[in-house]
Amino acid sequence: MIQSSHELWSVMRLVDGVEVLELQMVGVSGRSVIHPTLIWDGDTVMMIDAGFPGLLPQIREAMSNAGIPFDRLNKVAITHQDIDHIGSLPDIVREAPHEIEVLAHAEEKPYIEGTKPLIKLNPDRLLKMAGSLPKEQRRQMEALMANPPKAHVDTTVVDGQVLPYCGGITVIFTPGHTPGHICLYLNHSKILVAGDAMVVVEGELRGPNPRSAYDIDTAVKSLQKLTPFNIETVVCYHGGVYEDGASARIAELASASD
Ligand SMILES: [Zn+2]
Repeated sequence: MIQSSHELWSVMRLVDGVEVLELQMVGVSGRSVIHPTLIWDGDTVMMIDAGFPGLLPQIREAMSNAGIPFDRLNKVAITHQDIDHIGSLPDIVREAPHEIEVLAHAEEKPYIEGTKPLIKLNPDRLLKMAGSLPKEQRRQMEALMANPPKAHVDTTVVDGQVLPYCGGITVIFTPGHTPGHICLYLNHSKILVAGDAMVVVEGELRGPNPRSAYDIDTAVKSLQKLTPFNIETVVCYHGGVYEDGASARIAELASASD
């Protein structure tokens, strides 16, 4: 479905032990830029979200450029089931020299494991779109629907759980974009890895995108789950890093949902 005609990537170090990877894809709906986050401490190297299918070469290059080679990766946390977040997960698990522990919320586990069809990889929606696509892209999309990415989820996480890695990582259950979406708060650096709970558009932090949400009302309400945290930096998978008064801006977005 998604062609990587250019191997484009860059990396951005937020603090020691936290790097944002910026990966660019040229796909059926044009150019797409995504932002997986890499965190590490001692023996733990965790990637948060795993990109579109076919991105492993870029992930490898970006990681080695960040000074954290792919071979050190041992955990992947998935914020939610969408194809741009789990696409390269099977390749990562297969190619990594170490056992990779995959973490996700229990609500997302059956979709990631392929026992339930991915909510947004909906044949009706995609076939309608595929009808107007060039033949090769249509063929790729049909192949993806016939064989979506899947991987075993080793560890399910729950709201409020603090994962004992990298100075403590708090799981925040923020359903709406999908039924089991989570954000991850890095306690030490006060960085919120927001997945698709929010987006950055033209430098502005915004609430969840209604066009891609499974349940937009729930997604907007979930912003209230974020307000108790002292957040200095937000990493949105779509749009990247936001730092300008992050907690205040999130409070503003959350109060609009009352
Ligand atoms: Zn996404």
